[in-house]
Amino acid sequence: MSRAYNFCAGPATLPEAVLNQAREEMLDWRGTGMSVMEMSHRSDEFVQIAETAERDFRELAGVSDDYAVLFMQGGASSQFATIPLNLLPEGGSADYVNTGIWSKKAIAEAKRYGDVNVAASAEASGFSDIPDQASWQTRADAAYLHYTPNETIGGLEYDFIPDSGSVPLVADMSSTILSRPMDFSKFGLVYAGAQKNIGPSGLVVVAIRKDLLGKARSNTPTMMNYQVIADNGSMYNTPATYSWYLAGLVFQWLKAQGGVTAMAAVNERKAKKLYGFIDGNDFYANPIKPRFRSWMNVPFTLADESLNGEFLKGADARGLLNLKGHRSVGGMRASIYNAMPEAGVDALIDYMTEFAKERG
Ligand SMILES: *Cc1c(COP(=O)(O)O)cnc(C)c1O
Repeated sequence: MSRAYNFCAGPATLPEAVLNQAREEMLDWRGTGMSVMEMSHRSDEFVQIAETAERDFRELAGVSDDYAVLFMQGGASSQFATIPLNLLPEGGSADYVNTGIWSKKAIAEAKRYGDVNVAASAEASGFSDIPDQASWQTRADAAYLHYTPNETIGGLEYDFIPDSGSVPLVADMSSTILSRPMDFSKFGLVYAGAQKNIGPSGLVVVAIRKDLLGKARSNTPTMMNYQVIADNGSMYNTPATYSWYLAGLVFQWLKAQGGVTAMAAVNERKAKKLYGFIDGNDFYANPIKPRFRSWMNVPFTLADESLNGEFLKGADARGLLNLKGHRSVGGMRASIYNAMPEAGVDALIDYMTEFAKERG
């Protein structure tokens, strides 16, 4: 069986070179006689793997020493509670921007911990447009401003970094991290579930400005306390060692591709090609305002929804997998993260062209 093009939104496709390297190193990591999975997390070998991964991530994302980088567990969703527990003091308030399903989940969880203000919402546009920042009702005394740079399900992506003034900016970058260069100094905290652009699910990478450490509520679970995790090099307990190792391999692969600047050029090209095709063909449509179309997640609908099943069946038969849209929105979605080769997008467009010709 040859490898298919997997358009899954997450867990998502990984670079083939990374999987091959992991296979080669599976039984005997560099002469140690064991798999990385079987190593003590305190061993010199694993500490070297962990430190290299962190260094490469910092280099790729442009994260300075003013930030702690943490390799935590529980996915991005656990951060929805971890963030207010650490940054929202009892009786304090936080601002959130609602641009879709992931920001809504973050808002709902934060509301359990304090006064949450939805400073802006994309609801009026059906989540197809990002409200102009001039209209946001942010509060100068907010503990932080939270937003979702890329809404993975809706395919809505910011093309700017909000200006939060002196209020720390918090970003759920799960599905956009490392897809293009970003000025990291604008953020107080960034988090990303690994299974889109970094590695296996379960792992979540957090970068937090060091002055924001040490503010957790007294009843914060130890495993969710950023200060504790930072003080222990993300090894307060046994970390997700194999996922951390795989993330490190992905970072090395990204560096070999030329880093995020080179990735951004490819990502922009892939996205423009696919959106251009969709816009130019009456049979397919994408509802997002062009300026805010996601480079990573491309939802689209067929003019005749009754053909959805047939479209997916034909795609599967060609090795174009997981194109079904999220159950909450229907239609189709092609996730084209860093690891999706341009040839995968070309193959998808070829199939879509043929399908529209035959069935449209
Ligand atoms: C996938 C995703 C999540 C959830 O990640 P889990 O690791 O499953 O908790 C949260 N936010 C965004 C933007 C995502 O894409």
